[in-house]
Amino acid sequence: AHEGILRRQSLRESAARTYARSLPIVPVRARGLTIEGADGRRYLDCLSGAGTLALGHNHPVVLEAIKKVIDSGAPLHVLDLATPVKDAFTTELFATLPRGLADDARVQFCGPAGTDAVEAALKLVRTATGRSGLLAFTGAYHGMTAGALEASGGAPDVGVTRLPYPYDYRCPFGTGGEHGAELSARWTANLLDDPKGGVPRPAGMILEPVQGEGGVIPAPDSWLRRMREITADRSIPLIVDEVQTGVGRTGTFWAVEHSGIVPDVMVMSKAIGGSLPLAVIVYRAELDAWQPGAHAGTFRGNQLAMAAGAATLAFVRENALADRARMLGARMLGRLRQLAAAHPVIGDVRGRGLMLGVELVDREGNPGHVPAPATAEPRTPGPVPAAPASPALAAAVQQECLRRGLIVEVGGRHSAVVRLLPPLTLTDEQAEAVLDRLADALAAAER
Ligand code: PMP
Repeated sequence: AHEGILRRQSLRESAARTYARSLPIVPVRARGLTIEGADGRRYLDCLSGAGTLALGHNHPVVLEAIKKVIDSGAPLHVLDLATPVKDAFTTELFATLPRGLADDARVQFCGPAGTDAVEAALKLVRTATGRSGLLAFTGAYHGMTAGALEASGGAPDVGVTRLPYPYDYRCPFGTGGEHGAELSARWTANLLDDPKGGVPRPAGMILEPVQGEGGVIPAPDSWLRRMREITADRSIPLIVDEVQTGVGRTGTFWAVEHSGIVPDVMVMSKAIGGSLPLAVIVYRAELDAWQPGAHAGTFRGNQLAMAAGAATLAFVRENALADRARMLGARMLGRLRQLAAAHPVIGDVRGRGLMLGVELVDREGNPGHVPAPATAEPRTPGPVPAAPASPALAAAVQQECLRRGLIVEVGGRHSAVVRLLPPLTLTDEQAEAVLDRLADALAAAER
């Protein structure tokens, strides 16, 4: 069955097939960290649906919540009508909101995906401000629909002003020796204030507190506070995309809590649906400038996703899984740092909580600088530029991981960052097993 399914799907599906290309697996069973393929092979899954599975696969509390809705005879589809399931989800979601937003927030249920919520956020700030321009960052990823794509780095810019994200390992400002984050903030403020050559006041700014697809790049807390200041001073709504960083992933329930900034709009998806499709934006009530029906969509009332999501949010909160992610993530980062010391092909290791990345480089011909040990805080770029990124090596590490029963993602601007997004329920032993396999895979790929 395994080979047949792989062959048929590769023939029938579009050329845009993504994960299925590098991960030729046919999952038939899964529990927690483990996926079992149709060929009987078992894998430790550190892709977790690109960071969706906060509690891993098929967590009992999630399955129970879904069964409960089905057994109750409640309707599965009711457009956006009020239901007890929706009421419970909204209550649970609001209980998690960061201080400053929780007091007077509104929620808009969006289409099923993160990209739908990004579209809604862009539309909201454009409606509320009557302006159209947007500030977004290099290397950003916000989704694949038109507006979200525009806001993502590398896409053609239509009304989007692209600002440098503080990626100090490959500092967008070269290697001036000055702090990338401070330069990025100054650049942004100058651009907005320059009467000539600057940009007209935009409808909003959108950013990820940790760039995920862009290569696991945690923004310094000080930089996030500066961006909040710059936007607040100029009445520019700040949209924080927590699609990947939310629900405990980075070591706080929402990643904005590290810096204490209060966004005007938060974009949420992935883990809030407990592995089923769900996406919302939560924003300050003051921005609620929409006319009734101004934002619609048939699939905004997914009852099973709301039930699974409410159970997930409650479980993460009640079991302090964000704290767990912070502690375990710090320990894993420490071990990745040791790996980096032993393997020169590792250019940088980064992360926050259980969102970890290993950037692979090609030192032949251009050894580049060896960065200081990675921390959540930024580094000052050295006088020597980083070695070239090595997408080939990252792909090789991913395949060697797969051979050893470990699923990892490859991402980043140059597709050279091996990403780990394990469930927050990861045990100490599982974390060791993951890192052992990764270390073996690295050694094999290096040869
Ligand atoms: N924003 C961020 C930060 C993401 O990581 C993603 C997906 N990786 C999206 C938006 C888009 O979400 P979706 O794939 O569900 O449309």
